[in-house]
Amino acid sequence: MTASAESVSRETPVVLRGTPVVPGVAAGPALPVRSEISPEAISRFGDGGFADAQAAMSAYDDAVAAVADSFARKADRATGPAAQVLRASAGLARDKGLRSAVATNVDAGQGLVAAVRAAVEQFVTIFTNMGGLMAERATDLQDIEHRVVAHLVGEPEPGVPTPAEPSVLIAADLAPSDTAGLDPELITALVTERGGATSHTAIIARQLGIPCVVGAAGITAVAAGTFLLVDGEAGEVELGAQPARAQQRVVASRAAYEALAGWSGPGATSDGVPVKLLVNVADGTSAVQAAGEPVQGVGLFRTELCFLDVADEPSVEAQAEVYAAVLGAFGEGRPVVVRTLDAGSDKPVAFATLPNEENPALGVRGLRLSFGNPGLMDRQLDAIELAGRRTGTETWVMAPMVATVAEAADFAEKVRARGLKPGVMVEIPSAALLAHRMLEVVDFLSIGTNDLTQYVMAADRMATDLAHLTDPWQPAVLQLVAITAEAGRQAGKPVGVCGEAAADPLLACALVGMGVTSLSMAARAVRAVGAQLARVSSADCVAAAEAALGAGDPLAGRAAVRALLH
Ligand code: PEP
Ligand code: MG
Repeated sequence: MTASAESVSRETPVVLRGTPVVPGVAAGPALPVRSEISPEAISRFGDGGFADAQAAMSAYDDAVAAVADSFARKADRATGPAAQVLRASAGLARDKGLRSAVATNVDAGQGLVAAVRAAVEQFVTIFTNMGGLMAERATDLQDIEHRVVAHLVGEPEPGVPTPAEPSVLIAADLAPSDTAGLDPELITALVTERGGATSHTAIIARQLGIPCVVGAAGITAVAAGTFLLVDGEAGEVELGAQPARAQQRVVASRAAYEALAGWSGPGATSDGVPVKLLVNVADGTSAVQAAGEPVQGVGLFRTELCFLDVADEPSVEAQAEVYAAVLGAFGEGRPVVVRTLDAGSDKPVAFATLPNEENPALGVRGLRLSFGNPGLMDRQLDAIELAGRRTGTETWVMAPMVATVAEAADFAEKVRARGLKPGVMVEIPSAALLAHRMLEVVDFLSIGTNDLTQYVMAADRMATDLAHLTDPWQPAVLQLVAITAEAGRQAGKPVGVCGEAAADPLLACALVGMGVTSLSMAARAVRAVGAQLARVSSADCVAAAEAALGAGDPLAGRAAVRALLH
């Protein structure tokens, strides 16, 4: 490229913008995910020419076995949530209900491909109507359908092709089975057109540490092989970037990442204002792993995640054992905040969740389940008390989905009666607006920005089309965080953030500037947040808070805070 041509392309890069999910800069040719099976192959296959329905179902069983085995092989190579997602997909492919719906369609005279498609559509409608996490399973089912049909018609399974060189994966949305099997050596970054900060893509990208931007409108129109420069902190994707310049940015980003890895805590700003950095955990295994990180305790133990596949309520003794596995991993000056069951909505727990709610996100979830079933809460608190006594770990307990001061007072009384420290989550706007009165009855508040954002913006946190609204940088969300933090400052009581917002290094600084005293996040995010905080003063954090609160929208807020802190 000549100097003048290069300067023109520098002046006029085409940049797509989306929601940044995993920071880091990466580059490579665009690699589109294959979602289509060639229509010619399907029409060649026709009705399959099977002798009878039994022969057709036997071909179905072979295709399902091949798909399930390939999920299982990928699961063996993966760990953590990625492995769980793949095993769940293998189970879903073998689902007996799905098989019997296919058999019914075949018996009714449909060709096998049409029978599979109609059966999947039937289940997708049911799952979608159930909403929340079940709706997410619809994407898994459609992915399974594409793979089974590909096997039937003799095409390669759709999904992530194996690239010849490290590439940037682009897609409308990614099925969990696509993201879960990714090799970070070959896939340098992920960019999707749909999806939000809490989508499957985001969760797995965070686990793998692959730079990721979701909700990038226009990415699916980009031609395969176009050289892309992805900035997972700014949420920008530059098309046709000049490779040498892109490489410089990638190298600089890697150096910055390696510097982060050396951060060893404890959390504080450059002028020495302490900020407690804590971890979010799901069970004993994740707690043991997280305990090795430079953190001062657990800010959120999501107890409901221990019981997602349990049919009956475990006894107090059995629950105590589960909780003690987490409490026992910490202690010695590192307290654990246990959250009581946040069952319902996107986290169905068989023994707690009410069936068939019209609108479960606004229904009987979290603390509300104890209104009709007080024993459920009492037994869980008894078990937490027991686990606390057995391990000797300082135990704080908080309730999710608290809407009124009376609910907070009632909960606090039960927790104090067991010698534990009570707090409540601020996830509903009413709790933020009355934070000062909440703090008259509890000892601490923890802001759940994931749900607070969903309820302030009236946008389902799982809705991939609403990612621009379900963004914790929304100034209206931050206003409520600021009100809550200010209430904590006046009461002299701790106010933390335990939603995904705490894991965003730039937003973390703004939250501290608002007066938040602790940040709780996935273990993998801790060092990046700690290192960022150590680079800025408390005055910088206050300036970042003002910039984020005063911004017109999330994009402007991010840009303003980046400009201030970099
Ligand atoms: C939140 O809502 O921010 C939160 C931490 O709770 P969960 O993500 O488990 O709903
Ligand atoms: Mg929540």
